[in-house]
Amino acid sequence: MRILVTNDDGIYSPGLRVLAALASAHGQVRVVAPDAEQSSMAHAITASRPLRHRRAPALERADAWRVDGTPADCVALGTHLWRPVELVFSGINLGTNLGSQTWHSGTLAAAQHAVLLGYRAAAFSAPPLDEAGYRRIAPFVRQVIDVLVHDPALRLVNVNLPERPRGLTWTRQSMRQYDSEVVATKDPYGHELFWYMAAPQQDPEEGTDRWACEHDFVSITPLRLDLTDAAALARYGC
Ligand code: MN
Repeated sequence: MRILVTNDDGIYSPGLRVLAALASAHGQVRVVAPDAEQSSMAHAITASRPLRHRRAPALERADAWRVDGTPADCVALGTHLWRPVELVFSGINLGTNLGSQTWHSGTLAAAQHAVLLGYRAAAFSAPPLDEAGYRRIAPFVRQVIDVLVHDPALRLVNVNLPERPRGLTWTRQSMRQYDSEVVATKDPYGHELFWYMAAPQQDPEEGTDRWACEHDFVSITPLRLDLTDAAALARYGC
C-alpha cells in the first residue's frame, strides 16, 4: 500500500516525521510537504505560478520531497507523481484542529484535497509535543491508522489527539461557537498593526471533537465535503 504523507507545518516538522514513521507499518510511505510553514492556509492552491518539487533529506523509512506551495498543492503533486496512492495522511499538526478551527486548517485541507482527487484521507492534529509526548500518543495514532486501513467506507476523517490520551471516541464537529478576536498593537514606528487570532472556546457540547479532547479522548470525526443544506433545499421542494 502506498501512503502519501503531508502537513502544513513544513517538511522539517517533528509531527510529520512521527506520522510518516507510524504510517510505514502499513506500506510504502512518501512525504511531500511544504518547504515552509503553511498553517492557516486552508484549501488554497497555487495557480498563478509553477511549483517546484525538490528532494528533501529522507526521513526514517520514507523518502521526502518539498514543494514551494500549499498543503493542497503538495497533495496534488504528490499523488500525480507517485501513483497509485491509496491513502493520504496529513499532520501531525503542531496544534489541534477542533470545531470551527477546521475551516482554516491547512492540515485538514490537505486531506480534503486528497478526497476531492478521489483518495481516502485523514488529518491528524495534537498539541505541540516533545519526544516523550509523541511516544505517548503513538499507540493511539497507530490504532486510528489501523481503523482507516481496514474500513474503505471511511473517506475523510479529522483526528485530534490530546496530550495524554486514555482512549478513542467517535465525535461530531463542534460548530456552536466561533470566537475570533482582533487584537491591536503597534510596530516600532508607532504604526497600528492587528493580530487576527482564534480565541479559546468554552464549554463544548458533549460528543463533539472539542469535548473529547478536553476529556483526554482521541477524537475521530468522519467528515464529508458536500456542504449542501439539505433541509433548506427540501423547503424549496428539492
Ligand atoms: Mn500547522
